[in-house]
Amino acid sequence: MILGHHYQSDAVIQFADFTGDSLKLSQLAAAQTRARYIVFCGVHFMAESADVLSSPEQAVILPTLSAGCAMADMAEAPDVELALTELRAMTDARIVPVTYVNSTAAIKAITARAGGACCTSSNVRNVFEWAFRPQAEGGAGAGKILAIPDRHLAMNTAEAMGYTPDDWAIWNPHEPDGGLTRPQVARAKFLLWLGQCYVHQLFKPAHVEAIRKQDPAIRVIVHPECPREVVHLADASGSTEQIIRAVSAAPAGSKWAVGTESNLVNRLAKQHPDQSIRVLSNAAALCVQMARIDLPHLLWALDNLANGRVVNRVRVDAAVAADARVALQRMIDIKAVRDATERR
Ligand code: SF4
Repeated sequence: MILGHHYQSDAVIQFADFTGDSLKLSQLAAAQTRARYIVFCGVHFMAESADVLSSPEQAVILPTLSAGCAMADMAEAPDVELALTELRAMTDARIVPVTYVNSTAAIKAITARAGGACCTSSNVRNVFEWAFRPQAEGGAGAGKILAIPDRHLAMNTAEAMGYTPDDWAIWNPHEPDGGLTRPQVARAKFLLWLGQCYVHQLFKPAHVEAIRKQDPAIRVIVHPECPREVVHLADASGSTEQIIRAVSAAPAGSKWAVGTESNLVNRLAKQHPDQSIRVLSNAAALCVQMARIDLPHLLWALDNLANGRVVNRVRVDAAVAADARVALQRMIDIKAVRDATERR
């Protein structure tokens, strides 16, 4: 089975049996029990999740092992352990980690052991709501959420839930106690890990303003990994799956400026020639890590499989996988997924 993330190039995606975002691909990997080999055209943390969720008889293959994720690299397991220890020394409130799937399996395992769950950009709000729900009502009973590793996704989601900047504080893993004082921790409902996706940081408020000036009728939809100021100005925000649904449901003649990775946006434009769809900025917003999975590497991996050789297998240590599975399964069990959040 070949899985293709939405940010892959057309050259690779044409060979994918299934395409999707992280949540959808994780669920597919778990459901396709008859696939002996799962060739994951995505980045390393996604292949790890597929290995964690699939059976031991299935091999997960990443055509290029150097396809990592810059955001996932911003949180390391020892730093997350230390953050939990430091936070517990600074407050009596129950700290529950909510970890974006863009993270290593080791961090997902720590999350499970601390009573937390994973999330994707599709279901992060549902997971936050679950985290704050009392344990007697099936939630995690969090007094505070430690949101790892993307501060923008967490901030935008907290704001959509009605929280304000007074309700969060940035946890800087490079400073003692995250660079925070006890009163700052006491006040915050959300501790936001200092991490971000460089692709979505390319989008600026000036892009939204310029495009609206050119065409006041255009609708702007952005990914919640974008800075808060960009999300504020957009007409809607949502995960890649939510963006795809919003554009696909729009009538012919609709005009969109989309703030997310260029491969996805350009493919949407090809799939909907009756609409006008473009990237929000004039510069390409490409994930260079995703681009490392190119056609030669995919063909190399498949040729080796055809010759009985399994190359670039991604395997997670069994004990880590067992705990990471708990965090991923909690996420999958928190079902409700919303459509793109309308702002205007
Ligand atoms: S687009 Fe950003 S978050 Fe997604 S894989 Fe690339 S670096 Fe990571």
